[in-house]
Amino acid sequence: MKERLYLFDTTLRDGAQTNGVDFTLADKLAIAVMLDDLGIDYVEGGYPGANPTDTELFAAPRQLKHATFTAFGMTRRPGRSTSNDPGLAALLEAKAAAICFVAKSWDYHVKVALETTEEENLASIRDSVAAAKAKGREVLLDCEHFFDGYRANPTYALACAKAAYDAGARWVVLCDTNGGALPHDVETIVGEVCKTIPGDHLGIHAHNDTEQAVANSLAAVRAGARQIQGTLNGLGERCGNANLVSIIPTLKLKPEYAERFAIGVSDAQLKKLAQVSHALDERLNRAPNRHAPYVGASAFATKAGIHASAIVKDPATYEHVAPETVGNRRKLLVSEQAGKSNILAELERIGIKADKDDPRIGRLLEEVKARETAGYAYEAADASFDLLARRVLGSVPNYFSVTQFDVNVEQRVNAKGERVTVTLAVVKVTVGDENMISAAEGNGPVNALDLALRKDLGKYQKFIAGLTLTDYRVRILNTGTEAVTRVLIESEDETGERWTTIGISPNIIDASFQALMDSIVYKLVKSNAPA
Ligand SMILES: [Zn+2]
Repeated sequence: MKERLYLFDTTLRDGAQTNGVDFTLADKLAIAVMLDDLGIDYVEGGYPGANPTDTELFAAPRQLKHATFTAFGMTRRPGRSTSNDPGLAALLEAKAAAICFVAKSWDYHVKVALETTEEENLASIRDSVAAAKAKGREVLLDCEHFFDGYRANPTYALACAKAAYDAGARWVVLCDTNGGALPHDVETIVGEVCKTIPGDHLGIHAHNDTEQAVANSLAAVRAGARQIQGTLNGLGERCGNANLVSIIPTLKLKPEYAERFAIGVSDAQLKKLAQVSHALDERLNRAPNRHAPYVGASAFATKAGIHASAIVKDPATYEHVAPETVGNRRKLLVSEQAGKSNILAELERIGIKADKDDPRIGRLLEEVKARETAGYAYEAADASFDLLARRVLGSVPNYFSVTQFDVNVEQRVNAKGERVTVTLAVVKVTVGDENMISAAEGNGPVNALDLALRKDLGKYQKFIAGLTLTDYRVRILNTGTEAVTRVLIESEDETGERWTTIGISPNIIDASFQALMDSIVYKLVKSNAPA
């Protein structure tokens, strides 16, 4: 029997502290589902009562299948009883199966930051854990600055941890709050703590200020801790938290851990890891780190030369794990032959049959290279790649053409004296022998253009009736010669299938138009609409 290791994700709480990250309620709900689907044991949602988003989050209905949704907050304030502390009351009322308290464990912080006595801090820990237990919650206690506290006063740091454990906390979490601890330190101290508190009740919460949050987490596991806290893509304030996207495959694929421990992430879920990591970046509207271990676009990319030819013979020669295990792909760069095999692998993945000796494959490769240089990112826009491939291979009918469009944005003062902005789009479309003109008003130029374009496509209208736009993202790219706008549009149809299309142009309306056109044509291809 393997020992169970538990994964605790704090992307929505500690990760929300990242500079420039501002999750909406919809973001938080979507990320929670993503973490649950990945097989994470605990999803820490936030700090109910501390801000409107988190308060709404804990009131909103959630559909998590396995993960324990966890609320975060402080232990009771010194000098107050648990029944007379509004912050604690809000936490105890939050709709969450588990509560994670944070408490001081460094005597210096108790005195200087909390301005109370060591004994009162211990009583606050005991009382808060007991109050949450009495409410039927699973309780965790984060010991803030535990490693610094332990170095300064091991007896007191340990007393804080033990107070929580004795009061019934399921997990006592040792936090390296300022991220300054080193792996050998962590291993030694966690080993010492294990003599007082059983390791299967100990967690590690590491920050990345010396680039060693992942190493510190693994060191704690080696010493006996059985819960790891971290975030997706290492999000977190300053230099971030321990990156679960690196920790998970290490636990699953490296024999030292894989042979001893089981985690909640199955092999099938591990294959979704790269997608989860990229989906978070897309949601944050930032470019994924190409060099991210395991999941980055370059993690299994090899330049031409002896390495590439050896990899073609046997991938194990240069790869520490197989890229497919984490949902990534092998990439061989530069050489024509390698490029072709990338394209063929890509076509196979999206279900297009092609002959490797077909000269059109070479043309498609050239086209993709040229477009990627111009800013297209086909990895994020499968549907546009699908269409490009079909066009080069000659299998996309010319369903309709847009001969002209016009978008007018007007700001004026209406009859009530309010300043309003009105957008009108007019589109001229040719379908077969028919010429049509559609006009639509929208809440902005892209919305108006979309509505006008989809208003009347003649005989194709029935195929696109169930099409809706679900997301629209814009990024300005500097491609070297000029700044261009990249638009990604996510669409959904009546069957629930989603796809993403891309447009690139110095003009945002034109880039949006390209992505909209691709989305409609993709839907027609997928529906086998007659030419
Ligand atoms: Zn933290």
